[in-house]
Amino acid sequence: MAEAHPLMLYNTLTRRKEEFVPLNAQNVRMYVCGPTVYDYAHIGNARPVIVFDVLFRLLRQMYGKEHVTYVRNITDVDDKINARAAEEGVSIRALTERTAKQFHEDIAALGVLPPTVEPRATEHIEEMKALIEALIAKGHAYVAEGHVLFHVPSMPDYGKLSNRSLDEMAAGARVEVAPYKKDPMDFVLWKPSKAGEPSWPSPAGIKEPGRPGWHIECSAMAEKHLGEVFDIHGGGIDLVFPHHENEIAQSRCAHATPVMAQYWLHNGFLQVEGEKMSKSLGNFITIHDLLKEWPGEVVRFNMLRTHYRQPIDWTKKGLEESQATLDRWGEISDRIGGSLVEGLLPDLAVIEALKDDLNTPLAIARLHELAKEARGGNESAGEKWLASAEFLGFDVSRWHARAQSSELVEVTDPELALSVKSLVAQRGEARKSKNFKEADRIRDELAARGVILKDAKDPATGEIVTTWELAR
Ligand code: AMP
Ligand code: ZN
Repeated sequence: MAEAHPLMLYNTLTRRKEEFVPLNAQNVRMYVCGPTVYDYAHIGNARPVIVFDVLFRLLRQMYGKEHVTYVRNITDVDDKINARAAEEGVSIRALTERTAKQFHEDIAALGVLPPTVEPRATEHIEEMKALIEALIAKGHAYVAEGHVLFHVPSMPDYGKLSNRSLDEMAAGARVEVAPYKKDPMDFVLWKPSKAGEPSWPSPAGIKEPGRPGWHIECSAMAEKHLGEVFDIHGGGIDLVFPHHENEIAQSRCAHATPVMAQYWLHNGFLQVEGEKMSKSLGNFITIHDLLKEWPGEVVRFNMLRTHYRQPIDWTKKGLEESQATLDRWGEISDRIGGSLVEGLLPDLAVIEALKDDLNTPLAIARLHELAKEARGGNESAGEKWLASAEFLGFDVSRWHARAQSSELVEVTDPELALSVKSLVAQRGEARKSKNFKEADRIRDELAARGVILKDAKDPATGEIVTTWELAR
């Protein structure tokens, strides 16, 4: 067998692919910037969520589930949130709670695992204030007209992540320069709240209440849950500057550390049918709307067909192709029963592809190969295919249930589909151990729930295959 390769990740900080070596293999730590919750998340927002879910799964596979901590925050204090709540005439809390709930429902349908911790900005105000006060005490930040600003020239290597020099940035900055800033590049850590906006007692030195800036939120939440220096920090490429650059400045200067995270990973941007997605172009797609037309697996698959660092052009044609592939794969899951044997490991070549900077297109190519072998009757290829598809976050059993039932009656209740699937499996076991009484009891139980079983011999394997349909 070929020797297993190390995990290689492209690090934006060094601009090359590097071997991943965790600071502590007993606790591998990753932070990813999460959504600002004021509206349905769009399909562009789904990209980092899916991409870093794959990395989370890979890290869990490599280091053990208990040894990986994944933090993905929720930004629930922001100008856009205030504006939307005022527009709708609802409380900020009601808006952020509702939007966070929608977000969770949407991404669960995309096969995304919950992160280990999902901190909210509003629950970490004290930590933010402590960071801000440390920055003031160390001469990296100053108070001016109710604001606290980070003084960029106080950090000689500011700009390392986005690879810009201070001079370049100053020349390129077209922001209106507030008169209270010592330097045009200085950015806000804390600012006064306007009437009606959420506010908290300000850091020492400011009497009026205020609220945190965006960048400081992530520095505070990352420190609280992952420590001063951790392994991986991720997000979309648009966050490199200024958000991540500023997170680094805050965290490193507050803690006097050489780095904030060792590896900085950024997904490429998503556009729609060749154009930038925007509300004004009318091509703005929410995950919520997409899921009305396409199964979550199709959306996930379509996302992972492109390498995470490449731009994606999100098209209807791409979705149709993804659907066609999954339909064909559904036939294999039918054939092999669609249930995972406990402890079955994903295919080594699939893992190796992912270890090469998350090469999901290559992993999918390998799944195609395995699928082909499985269709040709190779049972172990079928099992590897199944374990690998599940590993990549495709819920094969859900798919299997849908494939079986969709021709007859649309099963809108996934709970029902799953419980039927498990009862069918139990009945199969009972029959195998010649407990026909129990097998018949399960058949009757299902019949009482309007589910009719059909047994047929698979000509290829000679095994009994049970399918089911809903009685009309
Ligand atoms: P936001 O709520 O705008 O802060 O974005 C949440 C996450 O989605 C960030 O990691 C962004 O980089 C990412 N993101 C936003 N728009 C896109 C897009 N069109 N393509 C890829 N990633 C995006
Ligand atoms: Zn962030």
